[in-house]
Amino acid sequence: MKILVASGNAKKLRELETVLAEFSIAGVELVSLKDVEPYPEPPETGLTFEENALIKARAGAAATGLACVADDSGIAVEALNGMPGVLSARWSGDHGDDQANNDLLLAQMSDIDHRAAAFVSCCALDVPAELSPDGQPREITAEGRWEGALLREPRGENGFGYDPLFEPADCPGRSSAELSPDEKNERSHRGAALRVLAPEIAKLVGA
Ligand code: IMP
Repeated sequence: MKILVASGNAKKLRELETVLAEFSIAGVELVSLKDVEPYPEPPETGLTFEENALIKARAGAAATGLACVADDSGIAVEALNGMPGVLSARWSGDHGDDQANNDLLLAQMSDIDHRAAAFVSCCALDVPAELSPDGQPREITAEGRWEGALLREPRGENGFGYDPLFEPADCPGRSSAELSPDEKNERSHRGAALRVLAPEIAKLVGA
């Protein structure tokens, strides 16, 4: 069965691939937005990660007829009352400008000593009725959190987004941009959310 991962970020597709392999789920072919007919992606107008993940998963399933997994994620900084949160990708005003987003966040936090932060991901699975084992459309969401602290300057070359600024609590002395992809997958917010969805994907393919 083909499952659309409604993202242009190849790293997100790899993460789900790794989790499916961990659960020994065979019979799933993951495809990305680059592999399907382009469709208009709706604006992410939700106020929560869950709302935005559902907006993306529903749009992907409706446009392609495939079961669709989507995630919405970001960094939640305690001293900023959980922001940038759902605005993480466009914190500086420019969607996806990692450098500008990171620079702004560092500047805002420059004289704040309380550095607690977490990466948060909500993953949603939308299954059209025709593909659902009981003939009913299904929607499942799962949230994962990765606790840590905001560094004072960027470190490391791996990952993306705020990775160079995030020191995971379970990897003291390193930023998440200094972890290998496998090390990050084992611990990350998205990995945690995807591990909750994996058994649901297994049911779809009868694994
Ligand atoms: P999304 O792709 O619309 O969910 O936006 C997520 C934004 O949150 C990205 O642009 C990153 O800035 C940030 N983000 C989410 N997950 C991670 C991660 O694992 N590492 C670093 N930044 C992340």
